Amino acid sequence: MGERGRVRLVERTDLILRTSPEYNRQVAQKVLSDLGIWVDLETAVAEVAADTISLTFRDQTDILPVDLVLWTVGTRVNPVIADLPLKHNERQQVVVMPTLEAADRPGVYALGDVADCRDAEGQQMPTTAQVALQQADFVGWNIWASLSERPQLPFRYRHLGEMLTLGTHRATLTGLGLQLDGELAHVARRLAYLYRMPTLTHQVRVGLNWMIKPLRDVLVR
Ligand SMILES: Cc1cc2nc3c(=O)[nH]c(=O)nc-3n(C[C@H](O)[C@H](O)[C@H](O)COP(=O)(O)OP(=O)(O)OC[C@H]3O[C@@H](n4cnc5c(N)ncnc54)[C@H](O)[C@@H]3O)c2cc1C
Repeated sequence: MGERGRVRLVERTDLILRTSPEYNRQVAQKVLSDLGIWVDLETAVAEVAADTISLTFRDQTDILPVDLVLWTVGTRVNPVIADLPLKHNERQQVVVMPTLEAADRPGVYALGDVADCRDAEGQQMPTTAQVALQQADFVGWNIWASLSERPQLPFRYRHLGEMLTLGTHRATLTGLGLQLDGELAHVARRLAYLYRMPTLTHQVRVGLNWMIKPLRDVLVR
Protein backbone atom coordinates (compact mmCIF):
# COMPACT_ATOMS: atom_id res chain seq x y z
CA MET A 1 0.00 0.00 0.00
CA GLY A 2 1.28 3.49 -0.66
CA GLU A 3 1.68 6.40 1.72
CA ARG A 4 3.48 8.88 -0.55
CA GLY A 5 5.21 5.93 -2.25
CA ARG A 6 5.80 4.03 0.98
CA VAL A 7 5.01 0.30 1.02
CA ARG A 8 3.92 -1.25 4.32
CA LEU A 9 3.40 -4.91 5.08
CA VAL A 10 0.83 -5.42 7.82
CA GLU A 11 0.90 -8.61 9.91
CA ARG A 12 -1.40 -9.37 12.83
CA THR A 13 1.00 -11.68 14.69
CA ASP A 14 4.52 -10.92 15.92
CA LEU A 15 6.22 -12.78 13.03
CA ILE A 16 6.02 -12.88 9.23
CA LEU A 17 6.11 -16.31 7.50
CA ARG A 18 5.36 -18.07 10.80
CA THR A 19 5.37 -21.60 9.37
CA SER A 20 8.47 -21.06 7.19
CA PRO A 21 11.98 -22.33 7.98
CA GLU A 22 14.01 -19.79 9.99
CA TYR A 23 16.47 -19.25 7.10
CA ASN A 24 13.72 -18.34 4.61
CA ARG A 25 12.13 -16.00 7.13
CA GLN A 26 15.42 -14.19 7.79
CA VAL A 27 16.21 -13.82 4.07
CA ALA A 28 12.68 -12.51 3.40
CA GLN A 29 12.99 -10.00 6.27
CA LYS A 30 16.32 -8.77 4.89
CA VAL A 31 14.93 -8.39 1.34
CA LEU A 32 11.94 -6.42 2.64
CA SER A 33 14.24 -4.19 4.66
CA ASP A 34 16.61 -3.69 1.65
CA LEU A 35 13.60 -2.66 -0.44
CA GLY A 36 12.63 -0.10 2.20
CA ILE A 37 9.36 -1.84 3.03
CA TRP A 38 7.98 -1.19 6.53
CA VAL A 39 6.79 -4.28 8.35
CA ASP A 40 4.05 -3.51 10.91
CA LEU A 41 3.89 -6.51 13.25
CA GLU A 42 1.14 -7.12 15.84
CA THR A 43 -1.01 -4.78 13.73
CA ALA A 44 -4.51 -5.59 12.50
CA VAL A 45 -6.39 -4.08 9.58
CA ALA A 46 -9.56 -2.66 11.13
CA GLU A 47 -11.08 -1.10 8.03
CA VAL A 48 -10.31 -0.43 4.37
CA ALA A 49 -12.04 2.60 2.83
CA ALA A 50 -11.76 4.20 -0.62
CA ASP A 51 -8.51 6.02 0.12
CA THR A 52 -7.70 5.20 3.74
CA ILE A 53 -6.84 2.18 5.81
CA SER A 54 -7.34 1.81 9.59
CA LEU A 55 -4.62 -0.06 11.42
CA THR A 56 -4.93 -1.16 15.05
CA PHE A 57 -1.75 -1.58 17.11
CA ARG A 58 -2.03 -2.26 20.84
CA ASP A 59 -5.63 -1.00 21.13
CA GLN A 60 -4.85 2.20 19.24
CA THR A 61 -6.28 2.69 15.74
CA ASP A 62 -4.64 4.99 13.22
CA ILE A 63 -6.21 5.99 9.91
CA LEU A 64 -3.66 6.32 7.11
CA PRO A 65 -4.03 7.53 3.52
CA VAL A 66 -3.59 4.73 1.00
CA ASP A 67 -3.37 4.33 -2.78
CA LEU A 68 -3.50 0.55 -3.13
CA VAL A 69 -4.31 -2.34 -0.80
CA LEU A 70 -3.30 -5.91 -1.62
CA TRP A 71 -5.27 -8.29 0.59
CA THR A 72 -3.53 -11.65 1.10
CA VAL A 73 -4.86 -12.89 4.43
CA GLY A 74 -5.58 -16.46 3.40
CA THR A 75 -8.41 -18.65 2.34
CA ARG A 76 -11.74 -19.46 3.99
CA VAL A 77 -13.22 -22.92 4.48
CA ASN A 78 -16.18 -23.57 2.18
CA PRO A 79 -19.59 -23.29 3.98
CA VAL A 80 -20.40 -26.85 2.86
CA ILE A 81 -17.54 -28.08 5.07
CA ALA A 82 -18.20 -25.57 7.84
CA ASP A 83 -21.83 -26.78 8.10
CA LEU A 84 -20.96 -30.47 8.47
CA PRO A 85 -21.92 -31.85 11.90
CA LEU A 86 -18.27 -32.49 12.80
CA LYS A 87 -15.85 -30.93 15.28
CA HIS A 88 -14.36 -27.74 13.78
CA ASN A 89 -11.67 -25.35 14.94
CA GLU A 90 -12.18 -21.57 15.05
CA ARG A 91 -11.30 -21.33 11.31
CA GLN A 92 -14.03 -23.91 10.55
CA GLN A 93 -11.53 -26.60 9.52
CA VAL A 94 -12.50 -30.15 10.42
CA VAL A 95 -10.42 -31.34 13.40
CA VAL A 96 -8.90 -34.71 12.50
CA MET A 97 -6.92 -37.40 14.27
CA PRO A 98 -3.46 -38.38 12.95
CA THR A 99 -5.24 -41.10 10.90
CA LEU A 100 -7.04 -38.18 9.18
CA GLU A 101 -10.40 -39.35 10.49
CA ALA A 102 -12.66 -36.66 11.92
CA ALA A 103 -11.93 -36.38 15.66
CA ASP A 104 -15.54 -37.04 16.62
CA ARG A 105 -16.54 -39.33 13.72
CA PRO A 106 -14.15 -42.22 12.94
CA GLY A 107 -14.74 -43.46 9.38
CA VAL A 108 -15.12 -39.92 8.01
CA TYR A 109 -11.85 -38.53 6.58
CA ALA A 110 -10.74 -34.96 5.90
CA LEU A 111 -7.52 -33.76 4.29
CA GLY A 112 -5.91 -30.75 2.66
CA ASP A 113 -6.87 -27.19 3.46
CA VAL A 114 -10.14 -28.15 5.15
CA ALA A 115 -8.43 -30.32 7.79
CA ASP A 116 -6.93 -29.17 11.09
CA CYS A 117 -4.32 -31.91 11.36
CA ARG A 118 -1.49 -32.83 13.68
CA ASP A 119 0.76 -35.57 12.35
CA ALA A 120 2.05 -38.66 14.19
CA GLU A 121 4.65 -36.47 16.00
CA GLY A 122 2.03 -33.94 17.09
CA GLN A 123 3.23 -31.27 14.61
CA GLN A 124 0.56 -28.88 13.35
CA MET A 125 0.34 -29.24 9.57
CA PRO A 126 0.40 -26.13 7.36
CA THR A 127 -2.21 -25.77 4.61
CA THR A 128 0.03 -26.46 1.61
CA ALA A 129 -0.20 -28.58 -1.51
CA GLN A 130 2.75 -30.59 -0.23
CA VAL A 131 0.80 -31.64 2.87
CA ALA A 132 -2.45 -32.27 0.94
CA LEU A 133 -0.71 -34.54 -1.61
CA GLN A 134 0.99 -36.62 1.08
CA GLN A 135 -2.23 -36.85 3.12
CA ALA A 136 -4.02 -38.23 0.05
CA ASP A 137 -1.82 -41.36 0.10
CA PHE A 138 -2.56 -41.93 3.79
CA VAL A 139 -6.30 -41.42 3.38
CA GLY A 140 -6.35 -43.87 0.46
CA TRP A 141 -4.45 -46.43 2.50
CA ASN A 142 -6.52 -45.88 5.66
CA ILE A 143 -9.86 -46.27 3.85
CA TRP A 144 -8.59 -49.54 2.40
CA ALA A 145 -7.27 -50.61 5.85
CA SER A 146 -10.59 -49.78 7.56
CA LEU A 147 -12.51 -51.85 4.97
CA SER A 148 -10.16 -54.81 5.27
CA GLU A 149 -9.85 -54.61 9.09
CA ARG A 150 -6.17 -53.76 9.07
CA PRO A 151 -4.50 -51.16 11.32
CA GLN A 152 -4.67 -47.59 10.03
CA LEU A 153 -1.52 -45.48 9.66
CA PRO A 154 -1.01 -42.14 11.42
CA PHE A 155 -0.04 -39.39 8.99
CA ARG A 156 3.73 -38.88 8.78
CA TYR A 157 4.73 -35.71 7.01
CA ARG A 158 7.96 -35.53 5.01
CA HIS A 159 8.81 -31.88 4.57
CA LEU A 160 10.47 -31.55 1.16
CA GLY A 161 11.45 -27.94 1.73
CA GLU A 162 10.15 -24.50 0.97
CA MET A 163 10.87 -22.06 -1.84
CA LEU A 164 9.78 -18.45 -1.70
CA THR A 165 9.95 -15.95 -4.51
CA LEU A 166 11.19 -12.54 -3.36
CA GLY A 167 10.48 -10.13 -6.16
CA THR A 168 11.22 -10.65 -9.83
CA HIS A 169 14.69 -12.18 -9.75
CA ARG A 170 15.35 -13.31 -6.18
CA ALA A 171 14.17 -16.23 -4.07
CA THR A 172 15.06 -18.16 -0.96
CA LEU A 173 14.92 -21.89 -0.52
CA THR A 174 15.42 -24.38 2.29
CA GLY A 175 15.23 -28.08 1.52
CA LEU A 176 17.11 -31.27 0.65
CA GLY A 177 19.89 -30.13 3.00
CA LEU A 178 20.31 -26.86 1.06
CA GLN A 179 19.89 -23.23 2.03
CA LEU A 180 20.10 -20.77 -0.85
CA ASP A 181 19.06 -17.23 -1.60
CA GLY A 182 19.43 -14.61 -4.32
CA GLU A 183 19.46 -15.20 -8.07
CA LEU A 184 20.75 -18.77 -7.77
CA ALA A 185 17.75 -19.66 -5.60
CA HIS A 186 15.50 -17.96 -8.18
CA VAL A 187 16.86 -20.23 -10.95
CA ALA A 188 16.73 -23.35 -8.73
CA ARG A 189 13.11 -22.54 -7.80
CA ARG A 190 12.09 -22.19 -11.43
CA LEU A 191 13.78 -25.46 -12.38
CA ALA A 192 12.05 -27.24 -9.48
CA TYR A 193 8.65 -25.84 -10.53
CA LEU A 194 9.29 -26.83 -14.14
CA TYR A 195 10.16 -30.35 -12.99
CA ARG A 196 6.92 -30.55 -10.98
CA MET A 197 4.66 -29.51 -13.91
CA PRO A 198 2.20 -32.33 -14.57
CA THR A 199 2.88 -32.91 -18.31
CA LEU A 200 5.61 -32.26 -20.89
CA THR A 201 3.25 -29.81 -22.66
CA HIS A 202 2.97 -27.76 -19.44
CA GLN A 203 6.76 -27.87 -19.01
CA VAL A 204 7.41 -26.66 -22.58
CA ARG A 205 4.75 -23.92 -22.48
CA VAL A 206 5.80 -22.56 -19.10
CA GLY A 207 9.54 -22.89 -19.86
CA LEU A 208 9.18 -21.08 -23.19
CA ASN A 209 7.12 -18.34 -21.57
CA TRP A 210 9.83 -17.77 -18.95
CA MET A 211 12.47 -17.52 -21.69
CA ILE A 212 10.46 -15.33 -24.07
CA LYS A 213 8.90 -12.95 -21.54
CA PRO A 214 12.07 -10.93 -20.70
CA LEU A 215 12.76 -10.57 -24.44
CA ARG A 216 9.15 -9.46 -25.10
CA ASP A 217 9.33 -6.96 -22.23
CA VAL A 218 12.44 -5.37 -23.77
CA LEU A 219 10.96 -5.27 -27.31
CA VAL A 220 7.53 -3.95 -26.29
CA ARG A 221 8.99 -1.19 -24.06
C1 LIG B 1 -1.97 -17.96 -3.97
C2 LIG B 1 -1.62 -19.31 -3.38
C3 LIG B 1 -0.33 -19.82 -3.55
C4 LIG B 1 -0.01 -21.08 -3.02
N1 LIG B 1 1.26 -21.55 -3.20
C5 LIG B 1 1.60 -22.76 -2.71
C6 LIG B 1 2.89 -23.28 -2.92
O1 LIG B 1 3.75 -22.64 -3.56
N2 LIG B 1 3.18 -24.49 -2.40
C7 LIG B 1 2.26 -25.22 -1.71
O2 LIG B 1 2.58 -26.34 -1.28
N3 LIG B 1 1.01 -24.77 -1.50
C8 LIG B 1 0.66 -23.54 -1.97
N4 LIG B 1 -0.61 -23.05 -1.76
C9 LIG B 1 -1.57 -23.84 -0.98
C10 LIG B 1 -2.17 -24.92 -1.84
O3 LIG B 1 -2.74 -24.36 -3.01
C11 LIG B 1 -3.27 -25.64 -1.05
O4 LIG B 1 -2.77 -26.01 0.22
C12 LIG B 1 -3.74 -26.88 -1.76
O5 LIG B 1 -4.26 -26.56 -3.04
C13 LIG B 1 -4.82 -27.60 -0.91
O6 LIG B 1 -5.37 -28.65 -1.67
P1 LIG B 1 -6.87 -29.07 -1.41
O7 LIG B 1 -7.12 -30.23 -2.32
O8 LIG B 1 -7.14 -29.22 0.05
O9 LIG B 1 -7.78 -27.83 -1.85
P2 LIG B 1 -7.90 -27.13 -3.28
O10 LIG B 1 -6.68 -27.32 -4.10
O11 LIG B 1 -8.36 -25.73 -2.99
O12 LIG B 1 -9.07 -27.94 -3.99
C14 LIG B 1 -10.41 -27.81 -3.58
C15 LIG B 1 -11.26 -27.92 -4.82
O13 LIG B 1 -12.63 -28.02 -4.43
C16 LIG B 1 -13.41 -27.24 -5.30
N5 LIG B 1 -14.66 -26.91 -4.61
C17 LIG B 1 -14.85 -25.96 -3.66
N6 LIG B 1 -16.14 -25.95 -3.27
C18 LIG B 1 -16.77 -26.92 -3.96
C19 LIG B 1 -18.11 -27.41 -3.99
N7 LIG B 1 -19.06 -26.89 -3.22
N8 LIG B 1 -18.39 -28.41 -4.84
C20 LIG B 1 -17.43 -28.95 -5.63
N9 LIG B 1 -16.16 -28.54 -5.64
C21 LIG B 1 -15.82 -27.53 -4.82
C22 LIG B 1 -12.55 -26.04 -5.61
O14 LIG B 1 -12.94 -25.40 -6.79
C23 LIG B 1 -11.16 -26.69 -5.72
O15 LIG B 1 -10.89 -27.11 -7.03
C24 LIG B 1 -0.97 -21.81 -2.30
C25 LIG B 1 -2.28 -21.30 -2.14
C26 LIG B 1 -2.60 -20.06 -2.67
C27 LIG B 1 -4.00 -19.51 -2.49
